[in-house]
Formats: sequence, C-alpha cells, structure tokens
Amino acid sequence: MRTERLAADAASIARAAEILRRGGLVAFPTETVYGLGARADDARAARGIFEAKGRPPGNPLIVHVPDVASARALADGWPADAERLAQAMWPGPLTLIVARRPDRVAGVVAAGGPTVAIRVPVHPIARALLDAVGLPIAAPSANRSTEISPTTAEHVEKSLGGRIDAILDGGPTAVGIESTIVDVTRSPARVLRPGHVTAEAIAALVPVQAAAGLVTAPAERAPSPGTHARHYAPRAQVALVPAHAVRGELDRAAQAGSRAGAVEYGSRTATGPHAELLPGDPAGYAAALYAALHRLEDAGCDVIVIAAVPEDPAWDAVRDRLTRASATP
Ligand code: AMP
Ligand code: MG
Repeated sequence: MRTERLAADAASIARAAEILRRGGLVAFPTETVYGLGARADDARAARGIFEAKGRPPGNPLIVHVPDVASARALADGWPADAERLAQAMWPGPLTLIVARRPDRVAGVVAAGGPTVAIRVPVHPIARALLDAVGLPIAAPSANRSTEISPTTAEHVEKSLGGRIDAILDGGPTAVGIESTIVDVTRSPARVLRPGHVTAEAIAALVPVQAAAGLVTAPAERAPSPGTHARHYAPRAQVALVPAHAVRGELDRAAQAGSRAGAVEYGSRTATGPHAELLPGDPAGYAAALYAALHRLEDAGCDVIVIAAVPEDPAWDAVRDRLTRASATP
C-alpha cells in the first residue's frame, strides 16, 4: 500500500477525512503523540489498526471525539466525575474510561470489554479532522506495537510507512508522551496511566484512589492493558541507572563491543558520541524524550543508557515511560 503524505492544510484535512469515512487508516498529530486513526463505529476499519500496528487484540484503543457531547453519546451513563474532569480538562491530554455503548463503539475497539476510553484532543489539526469526519475515531499511537511512540510524521513513516493510507504532517507534537488515563467507571477514580495531566490535578477535582504498583503491573493483572511492563520501548537494550553511573555503564557497554548511547538531562554535560541532553524540567523532558530515543535507534545504538529522573511526583509520567522502556521483554 502506498502511504500518502499530506501537509496539514484544508484540502488535506478534507482528503484525510474522506479516507477515514470510507474505512481507511490515517495517522494524524495530537498534542500527545501521533495517533493512527480509523472509524470507531466500524469493526472492519478498527481491525485495520490492529493489523497495521501488529497490536495484540486484547489491547483496547482510545476513541477521539471533538467535544464532551460526542463523548457522552458513546458512554452508557456519564458519571459525575467524568463530567467534572471533562469540563475542567477537555480539550486536552486526558483520557476517561467509561461504560461503553455497544451500538456506538465497535467491540474490537474496546478489546471486547464493557468500557471505552475517550479523549477530546486540543491539537488544532486533530480537532479539524474530527470535525470534518463527524464520526468517533479510534486512535492509538501511530507506531508498530511495543516500539517507541511517534512525535513527528517522520517517526510514523519509519514505523508504519506502506501499511497505512495516509499521514497528516503537523510537525513535532508538544506534550510528547501519551495521555493520562483515568478510570471513572467507579468512585474513587483511578489513574491507570500517568501523563501530562498530573494525578494531583485529577485529585483536586474528584476523589482518586491511591495508585499502587501502577508502573510495573504485569500484563495479566494490569487494570489497563497497555500498562503492562514493557511498552514504548526502543529495539536497543535500555539501562536505567543513577545519573552518576551513566559514564561507567557506557564504558562497560563499549568494552563489550556495543554501540552505546546516553540520555541525560538538565545541566549535566552529555556523555560520548551518541549522547542526548534533554531539558531539566519534566514537561520539556517529556516533549523531547521519544525523538531522542528515535535518534539513538536510528544511529544504530544497541545499548541506551538513561539517567534516572527525580523521584518527585512531577516526574511520574516520565518515570513511568522510562521504566517501561527499560523493562525486560
Ligand atoms: P495508546 O494510545 O497506544 O497508548 O493505547 C491506548 C491505551 O489506552 C491502551 O494501551 C490501554 O492501556 C488504554 N485503554 C484503552 N481502552 C481502555 C479501556 N477500555 N480500559 C482501560 N484502558 C484502556
Ligand atoms: Mg501506544
């Protein structure tokens, strides 16, 4: 299949909407990462996402809609906590889990489960596309399953070129890591995946159950299937070590004959030829992380040494992604 590369102008958005309406697959930018979209009301279209990504059918998809009213229409009941969070945080990088209306969201989208994950993105291209399609669009990250999420159209092309109908190019994404996921099917709500919208911000709005063992929940016990240990991972072997131990780890890898790259942050001097120095604040770090991992992968690094980030809650989302990138398969 030839993958059309579309600049994000009005004509391209109309073209992308047309492809989606007839059941095709289109990657598009959101504020978090690029999503791979298909009709959420059409089982055949949504199955295409799983095929293109090589995604296990047990891992459900997030459905994107343009506004709160469209979200309510997909839910079998709309809890007060959902309304509260939606009014405060949408459009934005927050996903809500609610009971699913089976007549509106295909079972395959929800991996056969009784719930559905819904999000209203804030990115102007995503919003224009959703408005133009006029249908709920299922869209997980636009990468092959378990690989690094894409934050540019080039990342999507590298991973899914030839497997999908089109890529809408909106430049690099701003948040850089996947949305915060909150289960509001019961109260207190549960944060299933940390993200740019912090657990603290959620807890200021609705009662939240304290998260325990979130980051390393094994697949079979994970409350949210994509939260299993290994995810968002480069093909290289990833070592997450204290900042002071990065140089020693790089030396060890080099002696073993590996091509090793490093990811450090803040005011440290980057170490070695394949070194990425990321911003020292969590939002800046998150925005830059996946592009850095893609570059190290493209440079042929077979070992990536990452300096551990602070234990502070402000770093929860970044720490979650680093822990999973470094988990053994
Ligand atoms: P991605 O957009 O690639 O991060 O994938 C979407 C993620 O959303 C999945 O990996 C799941 O963790 C989560 N998700 C989607 N639907 C549900 C659901 N109904 N219940 C719990 N988690 C979900
Ligand atoms: Mg993903």
